[in-house]
Amino acid sequence: MVAAVRVSRWRHVGEDGWMQQTLASNASCIELAESVTAHNYRPLPIVVAQAEGAWVTDVEGRRYLDALAAYSALNFGHRHPVLLDAARGQLERATLTSRAFYNDQLGPFCRDLAALAGMDRVLPMNTGAEAVESAIKVARRWGYEVKGVPDGRAEIVVAEHNFHGRTTTLVSFSTDPVARRGFGPYTPGFTLVPFGDAGALRAAVTPSTVAVLLEPVQGEAGVILPPAGYLADVRQVCTESGALFIADEIQSGLARTGATFACDLEDVTPDVYVLGKALGGGIVPLSAVVSRDDVLAVLTPGSHGSTFGGNPLAAAVGRAVVRLLETGEYQQRARELGERLRARLDPLLGRGLTAVRTRGLWAGVDIDSEIMTGREACEALAACGVLAKETHGSTLRFAPPLVIEPEEVDWMVDQLEAVLAHAPGRGTP
Ligand SMILES: *Cc1c(COP(=O)(O)O)cnc(C)c1O
Repeated sequence: MVAAVRVSRWRHVGEDGWMQQTLASNASCIELAESVTAHNYRPLPIVVAQAEGAWVTDVEGRRYLDALAAYSALNFGHRHPVLLDAARGQLERATLTSRAFYNDQLGPFCRDLAALAGMDRVLPMNTGAEAVESAIKVARRWGYEVKGVPDGRAEIVVAEHNFHGRTTTLVSFSTDPVARRGFGPYTPGFTLVPFGDAGALRAAVTPSTVAVLLEPVQGEAGVILPPAGYLADVRQVCTESGALFIADEIQSGLARTGATFACDLEDVTPDVYVLGKALGGGIVPLSAVVSRDDVLAVLTPGSHGSTFGGNPLAAAVGRAVVRLLETGEYQQRARELGERLRARLDPLLGRGLTAVRTRGLWAGVDIDSEIMTGREACEALAACGVLAKETHGSTLRFAPPLVIEPEEVDWMVDQLEAVLAHAPGRGTP
């Protein structure tokens, strides 16, 4: 089995690490973590100690294919050598300055990222949620100062089943009751429309609409793809009504879908990209709002900021990420491996799967709820050496690092096929 063969590469795990000496077993690591952390997650019982490329190794030496890739934050795999070199090099020079001073990594990173996106300027932040919050602030101020919306009246149109992060404002316009319950009072100023319905969007836009904020592909919702032409319609509605099109490409962007941005697949250019996750190369939190001069110009000294935003360590890693993307190699891998994944998943329709949705190397599959839950499928997959995560009950997402090998894609689907074939609801074969 692939997983077993690969264990030998990590035979040194635990030999010299204090963590492995004090916490020798998966069970003891989990027990400690559960006793001292807030229970805002319910992880699979896997304790990662080492990782490389598309594979992780637990504290007991078991190998797993990482088919989640930290929700696409690990598009380039664990510890990509080029990104590690960039980080190591910068660790030896300077790591944090705050924006009270300049650092020599900030300019090159923002220049290169803006060029990659075909935009003028970058507002660097840290987490995805912060970048979405920042884009909302920019859009509101742009609405008042440029569009002329009366003060305090700005509206932003968002889609049902969105996921933009966990801050109080962002959960205010979530439609997921679990994400919202107990966290009010909620921030006003958001209008919900069904995702993929251009007519509903057109009807929701008013003279006070400053922006339409959307994920081009709804990742957390289960890799939900809008109908063809929808993003172009969104672009048209925004242009006609004088609203900003803000594309949250935190999960869909940076090569995952087979293009640098998911919007590229429909030849659509938004006014604002919101980026995060893979931008930090799986090493540091790094997010960004990327837009034109006339939009980001509304931010003035003191009006917005972040202590860690634009720090030289993150900027050095982010610039190396941009350099990897400039080659087009990862976009191409996502396209080719994605076709392979699709070809292997389709035959499972009616054999345990009720739906398959893919965009590049990114798949949402719906498990037949008669045979098992999404959680049960993930537990069974983990027992076979594949780490995946359910979202919304019976949907599983597969988004392995783009450095995965073609045979490993096949092996991953072989494990899914075996899990479905032996599902409890189907009886023992
Ligand atoms: C993950 C994600 C976010 C939030 O990013 P964090 O870094 O977790 O704050 C926002 N939008 C989308 C589309 C995401 O997938």
